Amino acid sequence: LTIHGAFHPKADMDRFYVPRRKGGRGLKCIEDLVFKEWCALCEYLKHSTTPALKLVSKEKTVEKGMRENQTDHEDHLMKWEAKAIHGKWTKLLKIVDEDSSKWLRTAHLKPPTEALIIAAQDQALHTNWLGHYVLRTGETTDKCRRCKIFAETVMHIVSGCPMLAQGVYCERHNQVASALHWDFCGQYQLPRGQHWWEHKPEPVTENERVKILWDFTLRLEKPDILLTQKASGSNPQKITIIDIACPWDETLAEKEEEKISKYQPLRMELKRTWGGKAKVVPIVIGTLGAPPKTLKGYLQELDITINVQTLQKAVILRTSSIL
Ligand SMILES: [Zn+2]
Repeated sequence: LTIHGAFHPKADMDRFYVPRRKGGRGLKCIEDLVFKEWCALCEYLKHSTTPALKLVSKEKTVEKGMRENQTDHEDHLMKWEAKAIHGKWTKLLKIVDEDSSKWLRTAHLKPPTEALIIAAQDQALHTNWLGHYVLRTGETTDKCRRCKIFAETVMHIVSGCPMLAQGVYCERHNQVASALHWDFCGQYQLPRGQHWWEHKPEPVTENERVKILWDFTLRLEKPDILLTQKASGSNPQKITIIDIACPWDETLAEKEEEKISKYQPLRMELKRTWGGKAKVVPIVIGTLGAPPKTLKGYLQELDITINVQTLQKAVILRTSSIL
């Protein structure tokens, strides 16, 4: 598995055996299977009435099997959770969307890509920080190879390096934004390509029902998407300010708050000058794929057909190429 890149050698071994629905990689543990088989055989021998089998059941190994059966033997999930560094992701999984590990079953990524993201979630990648302070493999500095200013942690590489901000982070962000734009085009019968990942939004897209502004500066603010559903019949005009962010996975809630408060002045200004209703919708997904609990609700508000897993996949693929 490591030769073919399907398992990062420093990633968590217990997580490897945790079912995929719980965020693990779902391999059956042969040791566990053998153990269960052994316990079942011991149980059978203990309750056997055949004289020869009764004799066998007095063997020490059978006694041991019965005893061990009563103790909770292999629980990989518990072991994974108990680890200080590798287990950090399990704590995050408890506060984010309950379906946040679903991509492991639906995204069908190549095994090496999946392994890389899992290793990053495990904080197991050999960064300068890890080498310098934890593994002590002779790195003379803990600083980032690109910017040479900040400590090179996984968090820094995927979300905090000023040298990457304008380039690859921006592309990742735009990938998510253009997926939403592509979806809106479909909803309002505007021209669009076949695939969301090839979609290149125009600054202004409009028809009689809707006007979509892309990355457009308005009153000194520049929301990613400004969707205006035009008034029809008794329905007033509806303005939606949509802004996207892919922050470090532990700061999802703060980022959502930040986006909402940042666009309040613009929202009030547009409501006053353009009329109708106006709201702000933040779309936030962690760099390593964690979606906040609120994301599903926001996507529903936008009436969008793209699901959380698709957006997660878009982010994860970009993050893996950054790594
Ligand atoms: Zn850096």
